[in-house]
Amino acid sequence: MIVVMKDNINEKDIKKVKKRIEELGYNTHISQGATKTIIGIIGDLNREELIDSLAAYEKIEKLVPIQEPFKLAGKSFKAERTIIDIGNGVKIGGKEIILMAGPCAVESKEQVLSIARAVKKAGAKILRGGAFKPRTSPYSFQGLHEKGLKYLKTASKETGLKVITEVMDPRDVELVAKYTDIFQIGARNMQNYFLLKEVGKCKKAVLLKRGMSATYKELLMAAEYIMSEGNHNVILCERGIGTFENYTRNTLDLVSIPVLNKLSHLPIIIDPSHATGHWDLVGSAAKGAVAMGADGLIIEVHPEPSKALSDGQQSLKFETFSKLSSELKQIAEIIGREI
Ligand code: PEP
Ligand code: MN
Repeated sequence: MIVVMKDNINEKDIKKVKKRIEELGYNTHISQGATKTIIGIIGDLNREELIDSLAAYEKIEKLVPIQEPFKLAGKSFKAERTIIDIGNGVKIGGKEIILMAGPCAVESKEQVLSIARAVKKAGAKILRGGAFKPRTSPYSFQGLHEKGLKYLKTASKETGLKVITEVMDPRDVELVAKYTDIFQIGARNMQNYFLLKEVGKCKKAVLLKRGMSATYKELLMAAEYIMSEGNHNVILCERGIGTFENYTRNTLDLVSIPVLNKLSHLPIIIDPSHATGHWDLVGSAAKGAVAMGADGLIIEVHPEPSKALSDGQQSLKFETFSKLSSELKQIAEIIGREI
């Protein structure tokens, strides 16, 4: 349910209504548009009582029930776009298009440091790197776990880059939270509801990857799981979906950008690395994503892709990433954004 306030109201009027809603046991979320103020009501208690209690407020224009199943992630709840402040001036969802880059997996301290320095120089704001790897085979490299998280932190301290890393198990959320600025929920875990709820209890931003066979609605319902626990800092990520085409690793659904922007206020990031699976296709996919309105990109970079312990075939070398970054800057300018 949302409360639409009348046009000429003041702070006091908003406070009064907010206070009453909270007295009834609900949480509120205020969206202040150019002319309208909307108060989102979060919670599922006694609807009749809520409607009766608010009927007396003359500064309320109307009460509107939210039809979409994704109540918090949907546009009707919050009209303005969400901008997530990661700290150090890094904001996701604003005018700036944010580049996140780094290895698929953290392999050693030297590897992460050299990549962090290179991607920072090329304009990235966030360092990616997996310390817990969801590999198809249990015999493949599974990641360095806490040691890997420590290397990410070291690289972050040295370069000033923020960190994003995947958390796969609800039992690791507390540990990963000590080292990361953004939790990554992998495509395979998009519907791991226990994990979603656990990161939902934190304040840290969560990048939620679309499952390989998930619809937009399923992705938004997964976001809803995180948000319903109180964490509204959710970033959606399209990383390619499974189709009958098998030349590329996945099929990049770029139309997800305008569709998700239509349905939701949450920022959207594109992962052209996992979407294509081939380093020489990453650039085109990334450029298309920026032109289509993505709020950022997450790209795999490795100093020696042929020796990478994971996803070398889709990783960019330093020079390739740097060249791509300058090309992306030009596209961003044309569409009134910046990198
Ligand atoms: C990754 O980012 O390295 C990864 C495993 O991604 P996804 O969950 O999209 O497959
Ligand atoms: Mn990878």
